[in-house]
Amino acid sequence: MSSSTITTKSLITEAVTQSATMTRLLKSYVCGDWYEGTGRRNQLFNPTTEEVIGEATTGGLDYAAALDYARNVGGAALRKMTFAQRGEMLAAMASAIHEHRDELLDLATESCGNTRGDAKFDVDGATGTLAAYAKMAKGLGDAKFLLDGENIRISRSPRYVGRHVMLPRKGVAIHINAFNFPAWGFAEKAAVALLAGMPVITKPATATAVLAERIVEILVNSDVMPAGAFSFVAGSAGDMLDHVTGQDVIAFTGSAATGAIIRGGAAVIKNSVRVNVEADSLNAAVLGPDVKVESPTWDLFMRDVHTDMTQKVGQKCTAIRRVFVPADKIDAVREELSQTLQSTRVGNPAIRLVRVGPLASKAQLDDVQAGIQKLAEVAEIVSGEVGPGELYDLPSGKGYFQQPVLLQANEPEKAGVVHEHEVFGPVATLMPYNGEASEAARLVCLGGGGLVASVYTDNRDFASDCMVEMAPAHGRLTFGSKKVAEHAYGPGMVLPQLVHGGPGRAGAGEELGGIRGMSLYMQRTAIQGDEPMLAKLFEDGTTAG
Ligand code: NAP
Repeated sequence: MSSSTITTKSLITEAVTQSATMTRLLKSYVCGDWYEGTGRRNQLFNPTTEEVIGEATTGGLDYAAALDYARNVGGAALRKMTFAQRGEMLAAMASAIHEHRDELLDLATESCGNTRGDAKFDVDGATGTLAAYAKMAKGLGDAKFLLDGENIRISRSPRYVGRHVMLPRKGVAIHINAFNFPAWGFAEKAAVALLAGMPVITKPATATAVLAERIVEILVNSDVMPAGAFSFVAGSAGDMLDHVTGQDVIAFTGSAATGAIIRGGAAVIKNSVRVNVEADSLNAAVLGPDVKVESPTWDLFMRDVHTDMTQKVGQKCTAIRRVFVPADKIDAVREELSQTLQSTRVGNPAIRLVRVGPLASKAQLDDVQAGIQKLAEVAEIVSGEVGPGELYDLPSGKGYFQQPVLLQANEPEKAGVVHEHEVFGPVATLMPYNGEASEAARLVCLGGGGLVASVYTDNRDFASDCMVEMAPAHGRLTFGSKKVAEHAYGPGMVLPQLVHGGPGRAGAGEELGGIRGMSLYMQRTAIQGDEPMLAKLFEDGTTAG
């Protein structure tokens, strides 16, 4: 376990309060009803003002019963529905959330410290992902399961054939999410599992669960999901994972340390439970040697690095952390980026002019500041410093603020910690390379496996070499060039159509990716038999795509 994780956990523990105060207690939604936990509570804070805005506890929650209810009631109901009907449900969920958009954006600002733009990224990302899967469901029509490939002749008789089918697993999909995306994080997992036909129990990170709880309340009140299809946990996972069975699926997003604990759970190991982990990632951006200062591709590169350092205060698993630049351009990049960062407003996230709000919690602030100091042992801080800096429209001196910090490590090879330690905040490190694709790829791969890497070039040979060398270590590669300079999404944007996940340090998970994401929640089974019988068995199936 990393020292930063220990810091996080101990700070959360310190925040525990014994007494029932006037503060609102968040509720879980299990077994078709709202549940108020008992016993010790965790406090939740407004990251801008440090005021307590809620409390959470799952004390007394009967996880065994909650999981059984989801499996037996929700699973049975979902499996009876066609893909089209499940898609209609997802569309209704998206509409219900969208109807409360303004309220949710305000709540994201209050409970997560999001600027308006950051709040939209999370909340609209949730509705967008649900809507995208609703649309994909239409293409699957009235089928209830997937057929994988065509009939395969497996003997001398043409009548004896085999084919693969994918049916929803008969357990519950347990979704454990990180603090940074309480809206999108729930939706990107739930959309896929529900479309596949599995009931969901979702557990947001406690620190930002206020927004997730309100979304669940909206969904429950809108009555768009069958009973048992959706459950929600506000607070600690308690002994939930002691009750998992071989038909359940755990999809986890968070730190590598927690991912390892979850993977190592006794019931998880005993029952060979399928676990998907989305963890840390030291995402890299590479500027190609062909890119000239102030060209469209240069501008795109500068924009993407700046966006990733500042959007959501750098609290994005996909944010660029390492920036590799040909040695002869590093001064120009540093100067332009530093100027942009220094003119970026940090402060009250409720004010439209502000681009960078507070980090989500005191624990995150402490982790990020300790992380900058760790990086500074091997790299020089070239813009910003540890501390909030001048805050816009915030005279109180309160809040979990950290200004953007750019570092530079002139010998990337010797900057071990830069490639190993993810500082989950508005922080990136600039490093030179010799302009060759193989060298850029070698340095990028020191990150040990990542969610995404981005390459900015108009030279297709350079791009091709980067792809071959870098793709095996990444879940996604994004190429920025002048042809898409005006349209390209930055690497930080996760899209429902493309896979999200990465090997090694990133957890070796894979989510989304359109219809292929459903395979996490379905069992692929080979079926052998006579052709007319198989034709009958496959009547309720369809081939994906
Ligand atoms: P975290 O401390 O690992 O917590 C993640 C989730 O796990 C929370 O819901 C947490 O609940 C829960 N949890 C903690 N201990 C658990 C246990 N023993 N059993 C079951 N659940 C447990 O991570 P975080 O601080 O929220 O998120 C930051 C990290 O997430 C960063 O390292 C970042 O890279 C990573 N991340 C990755 C992705 C991705 O897609 N790859 C996306 C976002 C973030 P409590 O809050 O109740 O403790």
